[in-house]
Amino acid sequence: MSARIRVTAWNEFRHEQHDQAVKELYPDGIHTAITDFLGTAVDMEVRTATLDQKEHGLTDEVLANTDVLTWWGHMAHGEVNNEIVDKVYKRVIEGMGLIVLHSGHFSKIFRKLMGTTCELKWREIAEKERVWVIEPGHPIVAGLGDYFEIPHAEMYGERFDIPAPETLVFISWFQGGEVFRSGCCYHRGQGKIFYFQPGHESFPIYYQPEIQTVIKNAVRWAAPVNRTKPTFGNYKPLENM
Ligand code: ZN
Repeated sequence: MSARIRVTAWNEFRHEQHDQAVKELYPDGIHTAITDFLGTAVDMEVRTATLDQKEHGLTDEVLANTDVLTWWGHMAHGEVNNEIVDKVYKRVIEGMGLIVLHSGHFSKIFRKLMGTTCELKWREIAEKERVWVIEPGHPIVAGLGDYFEIPHAEMYGERFDIPAPETLVFISWFQGGEVFRSGCCYHRGQGKIFYFQPGHESFPIYYQPEIQTVIKNAVRWAAPVNRTKPTFGNYKPLENM
């Protein structure tokens, strides 16, 4: 690709302002931690947007100039304006990539795109997570081994109430015994969606090299395909009939 992928990292940015431990871990917010490592990729240009900005930082201009949007939210999903959710949805259908991170499983935009509750089991006792690569030829796993481990993670367990992923890239095992579909690919319209489970706010997960590799790979996978818009509606035959 000649032009760089324009990435917007969206974050509700609440825990980092109100919880001292999270603030120490992510002093400039999770969104900035994400753009810090994505911004080192020569094929990406990055910006951030947060909930408390005007239009949650997702103005028409920003959305029109975003190829891939990453989404982190947890405690304030309900504060995201439905109008903005509809605009993000429309952009995904038109081809914008969406990377939904961790507790973003409960965001309005992810639930709207999935059409299910996106409920799951969870437990926060800093247990080990082992993330297994189960689709070794997929571009999102470039640079990884058979598996990698996160020393301290929040457990997310099945049943995860999502539609069956079109491609399931990762399955995670947690020390307590549960398993979880932790890397899920979907298409909606012309857009690609990747859900990635790791990323709890009180653990340094976004500083871990393997996590950064996955998110970089996912941005490249989810970037729009440059093509003419598909044609809909009544259509003349291409052959003489
Ligand atoms: Zn969490």
